[in-house]
Amino acid sequence: MKYIALIAHDGKKEELVEFVLRFQKFFSQVPTLATQTTGGKLRENGLSVETVASGPKGGDAQIASRITEGKVAGVIFFRDPMGKHPHEPDINMLLRLCDVYNIPLATNPATAELIARNIV
Ligand code: PGA
Repeated sequence: MKYIALIAHDGKKEELVEFVLRFQKFFSQVPTLATQTTGGKLRENGLSVETVASGPKGGDAQIASRITEGKVAGVIFFRDPMGKHPHEPDINMLLRLCDVYNIPLATNPATAELIARNIV
């Protein structure tokens, strides 16, 4: 079964945790893959999640690589639109590869809900 990838910038981590708790049933049925700090927060809240490196240390790039391998069913990436990020090139690469491979991509809770309600 393919992963749902979960990433949130620091200003959005709480929002992602709330989202995952709200759709707990969905997230208990799919394998999840998260960047390191995001994954740590999710684990603290009871979700079993596989992690890659932290976003600024290449985690977004690792998730992009899993997309190219056909291992990702959807990406939920709560970006902080107010923040500046040192790994902007990696973020853009991940977003671009979602489009290259036609992978559902949600960057806010309203769209993430569509993924959580329609995959599985
Ligand atoms: P993090 O990475 O989950 O390790 O904070 C997310 C990001 O900043 O892209």
